[in-house]
Amino acid sequence: MGRVVSYNDGLNRCEFCGKDEHQVRRLVKGPSCAICDECIRLCAQIIQEDMAKDAADQRVSLPAPSKIFAYLNHYVIGQEAAKRTLSVAVYNHYKRVNMDLGDRGGIADTAFERKDAAPRVQVDKSNILLMGPTGVGKTYLARTLATIMNVPFVIVDATSLTEAGYVGEDVESVLQGLLQAADGNMDLAQRGIIYIDEIDKIARKSGENTSITRDVSGEGVQQALLKIIEGTQARVPVQGSRRHGDVRTVVMDTANILFICGGAFVGLEEIVRRRLGLRESGFSATQGSDRVPGDRVMSQVRAEDLEQFGLLPEFVGRLPVISTLEPLGARELRRVLTEPDNALVDQYRRMFLDDGAELVFTDAALDRVAAIALERKVGARGLRGIIERTLEATMFELPDRTDVSRVVVDADAVDGTGSPRYETGQGMAAAAGRRLA
Ligand code: ADP
Repeated sequence: MGRVVSYNDGLNRCEFCGKDEHQVRRLVKGPSCAICDECIRLCAQIIQEDMAKDAADQRVSLPAPSKIFAYLNHYVIGQEAAKRTLSVAVYNHYKRVNMDLGDRGGIADTAFERKDAAPRVQVDKSNILLMGPTGVGKTYLARTLATIMNVPFVIVDATSLTEAGYVGEDVESVLQGLLQAADGNMDLAQRGIIYIDEIDKIARKSGENTSITRDVSGEGVQQALLKIIEGTQARVPVQGSRRHGDVRTVVMDTANILFICGGAFVGLEEIVRRRLGLRESGFSATQGSDRVPGDRVMSQVRAEDLEQFGLLPEFVGRLPVISTLEPLGARELRRVLTEPDNALVDQYRRMFLDDGAELVFTDAALDRVAAIALERKVGARGLRGIIERTLEATMFELPDRTDVSRVVVDADAVDGTGSPRYETGQGMAAAAGRRLA
């Protein structure tokens, strides 16, 4: 005959499985209930599986550095060294993010297996500093990287930031921008990319750069940025809450956010030259054959040079990956016009096709656009404006001209001494056909 189990035998029992305290190794008692070690282990396992699943859902899909590099090549002309450095840095960053998520997914595991587990290695974050003149692709690289990694991206201007308590935007607003870019999805925002432009403008102005008076605000902003760049739990105001008097905040962990800082760093080359004992760039090239080109000098930038420039040592320490972008030459500017996916010339061709005309730039015209951009020293940033001005009158007239099948732009039209040439004739049929297409 079977034994009748009485629960009224005065023994403490596990509420989950019903075993009494003699049948289990350990019964953990609460004020009104108890649970045994076996059920704790089972519950921990269930939670671990949930966490592992959450972590797997959040893992960033990670292309190899060579793939990232190849993708960048579709969009960014030149800047080979920067593309390489960034491919590795971004790969490492998101590998670290995934490892971190993996570790978090295994928390329950460690509670039991800790003594057998290999020691966990905490990999530090490596934020990035991009140096180079305006319009050479610093922002564009950062933005393209965010697209590749499919993470939210936000650009801020360091000069618009102020220390907390001062008039202007405090650094937490940067995080608010990222949260918005992630449509309010905190998990996504916490592994996004923030590009801080004009970081050189918040350098402390002291010593050799200007007077001995310290630029307290620049230093203060660096101090304020330090924490969020390194990784902290920041309180971020929720958008719109300010309108109703009190400001609601949410906590955002910045440990997995990648910060890319960019700046022109005018004057840094001289600092490096001085350290290297080279002639300063003000000397004319005729004064000696020891004149080393600026890009070769800039590739030797060290932390101490940046400190002398006016960045705080702690700040430099948080930007261990440094890459220098070179000024784009005429040939590269010309390539920017036609080669990248979504190239500028393709964009205008597409717009003209919509009005039934084919847009053609002669080789000489493309050379001229590149030459003008080079003269203006604004890098690729100036290209669109030059084309826009060249085509302005045409874009005004073309929608009314159903007879035009081709618009040819030559160097004169770019110079402003001539106009784009209209071709008509049998093109009418072609144009009409295209419209229907
Ligand atoms: P900055 O170096 O000042 O941050 P940007 O990245 O904003 O310059 O460049 C301005 C624009 O010029 C970009 O949006 C992009 O269209 C174009 N551009 C700049 N550099 C390159 C490049 N190396 N290859 C392709 N396009 C570029």
